[in-house]
Amino acid sequence: MREFLALAKFLAGGLMLLAACGPPAPPSEDHRTIKVTTTIGMIADAARNIGGPTFEVVELMGPGIDPHLYRPTAGDLARIEGADVVLHLGLELEGRMGQVFESLKGSRKTVRAVGESIPKEKLLEVQGVPGKHDPHVWFDPQLWSIVVADIARALADRAPEQKSEIERRLADYQADLAALDGEVRRTVAQLHLEARVLVTAHDAFHYFGKAYGFEVLGIQGVSTAAEASPSDIRRLARFLADRKVKAVFVETSLSPGTVKALQESASSLGWKVVIGGSLFSDAMGDKGTPEGTYVGMVRHNVNTIVGALQ
Ligand SMILES: [Zn+2]
Repeated sequence: MREFLALAKFLAGGLMLLAACGPPAPPSEDHRTIKVTTTIGMIADAARNIGGPTFEVVELMGPGIDPHLYRPTAGDLARIEGADVVLHLGLELEGRMGQVFESLKGSRKTVRAVGESIPKEKLLEVQGVPGKHDPHVWFDPQLWSIVVADIARALADRAPEQKSEIERRLADYQADLAALDGEVRRTVAQLHLEARVLVTAHDAFHYFGKAYGFEVLGIQGVSTAAEASPSDIRRLARFLADRKVKAVFVETSLSPGTVKALQESASSLGWKVVIGGSLFSDAMGDKGTPEGTYVGMVRHNVNTIVGALQ
C-alpha cells in the first residue's frame, strides 16, 4: 500500500510538472531503446542474440508464414514506420514487399537487405533464370554467419557506443553457428551418399544440399508464387520410384497438398514413399519451443531428414 501511494504521488508530481512546462523533450537515442523491425524470424533471432537489451526487436512474419507471398498488414506498416532499423533478407525473398522497402529510401532509418551482404560468387543461381539468386541462404550456417555479421553492423551503426559489446555477442553467436554446422555434418554422416536425396514442397533447400551433399528437388520452384503442374508431379514421382527414395517432406509454411499428390502419384507407379515429417523452411517454429530459434529449426530439420531417409 505504501508503495502504491508513493507511485501515485510520483505520477501526480509528474503530471503537475508536465502541466507546468509542456511535454518533456524526447530522450536522446543513446538512452532509449532502439526499435528493430525484421521480416523473417531468423533475422529477428540473430538481432536479439547480437543486439542485447538496448534493441527491441519485432518480426513481421511469425511461425507458418510464407515470405514469398506475404503482403504487409496495416499493423506491419506501422511497425516499419515506427522502427529505427528495418532488416529484410532481400534477394527477392519478400517478393510482395518491394514497394515498401523502396519507399523507405532516403528516410533516416537504417534499412538493410542483409542477405545481399553475401558475396555474389557464394550465391546459387535459380535454375533456368540467369542472374536471379536463390534467397534461402539460411540453410547453410556458414553463409548465415556472413548475414549475421551484417546484422551486427546495422545495429552497431545505430548504437556506436555499444560496438564492442555487439561485436562480442556476434562472436559468441557465430561460434554457435560454427558448432551447429559441425553438428549437422556429424548427423548427415549417418546417411549413405545414395540416400542423400531431399524432396520437399518447394525448392528451399539447395544451400543445405550444397553444404551437406544432398541432391535437392522441390515440387514448386524457389518461389511459391508459381504452382506445380500435374506433369511436374508425375516427373518427380517417376524420379522417386526410380531412385527408391524412402521419404518426402512437407513444410510448416506451405499447405501439404502437393506433397500428398506426389505421394499418391508415386503410389500409382508402385512405389510407396512416406511423408518423413514437417520441415521448417521459410519460417521458424513457435516462440518458446526449441524450433522457435534459428539453431533449433536447423537441428530439427536435419534430425527429421536423416531420421526418415535412414
Ligand atoms: Zn522459400
